[in-house]
Amino acid sequence: MMADSTTIDSSLTTPQELSPNASANSPEESTSEKKRVLSLLRRRSPLADPQQQITDLNAVNLDSLAHGGDFDAAIAAAGHPNLTPTQLDIFQINIGKLCNMTCRHCHVDSGPDRTRENMDRETVDACLRALDQTNATTVDITGGAPEMNPHFRYLVDECVKRGKHVIDRCNLTVLLLPGREDLPEWFAERGVEVVCSLPHYRKRNTDAQRGDGTYEKSIEALHRLNTAGYGKGDPNRMLTLMTNPVGAFLAGNQGKAEQEWKRGLQRNHGVSFDRLIALNNMPISRYLEWLEESGNLQSYMETLVNAFNPATINGLMCRNTLSMSWDGRIFDCDFNQMLDMEARYPDGRPVTIQDFQLEAFAARKILTGRHCYGCTAGSGSSCGGAIE
Ligand code: SF4
Ligand code: SF4
Repeated sequence: MMADSTTIDSSLTTPQELSPNASANSPEESTSEKKRVLSLLRRRSPLADPQQQITDLNAVNLDSLAHGGDFDAAIAAAGHPNLTPTQLDIFQINIGKLCNMTCRHCHVDSGPDRTRENMDRETVDACLRALDQTNATTVDITGGAPEMNPHFRYLVDECVKRGKHVIDRCNLTVLLLPGREDLPEWFAERGVEVVCSLPHYRKRNTDAQRGDGTYEKSIEALHRLNTAGYGKGDPNRMLTLMTNPVGAFLAGNQGKAEQEWKRGLQRNHGVSFDRLIALNNMPISRYLEWLEESGNLQSYMETLVNAFNPATINGLMCRNTLSMSWDGRIFDCDFNQMLDMEARYPDGRPVTIQDFQLEAFAARKILTGRHCYGCTAGSGSSCGGAIE
């Protein structure tokens, strides 16, 4: 039987304790509960338009803070007049927006209604041809729930054949869906690293962000991964958990949290995992909506700008990563993708996977905006977790 996860004696500060505005600082306390079960697009929210998101971020008054909240000025003052690409190492493929869940913080605006935005086989093949032009070592497959795309297994197999390290970004609950129960063993046979999102090792924080019942399903999925050999120190069966704060504050100390999570999940559920990565929430999409509705946008942006850490600039993921959308467009990172900020070749043409030219791509200018402060705040934040 499952122990009551709320009884864990935490030495870390909880989101609720960190809240400067406890009555409205956690998504679980929003009054707009019902409409959050649908994507922004389905609700025809103005924020479904990426340009509206950029406008809202730029409207926040940050005049009194360093560089007036101008990210380019902040990095220039730190010795980086531009963000320049380094050697391309990671192909991050957002294979679609379809997901079996509708989490309140989702920066992709995914959900069960996003059936249209799913990569087709032709685009998957174009992606593989582009991959063959590069020396990228890692293919990082994300979504939505990537496992729901009909070409997901084909893509994984083709990447494994090419000797790439493959990462599946998994929401855990998808592993319980009919037709996907075999995935833990299937991944294990191919050495796929499974990076699983779990907002917190305690039930109440996880269900607050992802919906009631998510926690129990997630624990069941973790048991299945453990049974398949994941989470036990085998480099070919790496189980990584990924967390982001349930509220308007920065990710905590990753190393300290990992130890606490390992103790908590083992003690309460007999679950083990290999590492924890902690990400800041980006002030875009459904998380931006929550910031606005809860009155936390101003304070969160101030937090990000005040916590700007120049030591994170060298490790920003946009420098060694290519981010590809379901329809074959290319971006500097997953966040720029969600804001529709397409990467462009030096001659101004948008970069697409169908017309991918590695040399010209490497000469592009990385596009930035205020959302970038989410990556440079505190210990920094990237798809691989804290930067320093
Ligand atoms: S599981 Fe991930 S992709 Fe799906 S709605 Fe939640 S945050 Fe978004
Ligand atoms: S949001 Fe994207 S472009 Fe901006 S700093 Fe982060 S990774 Fe780089």
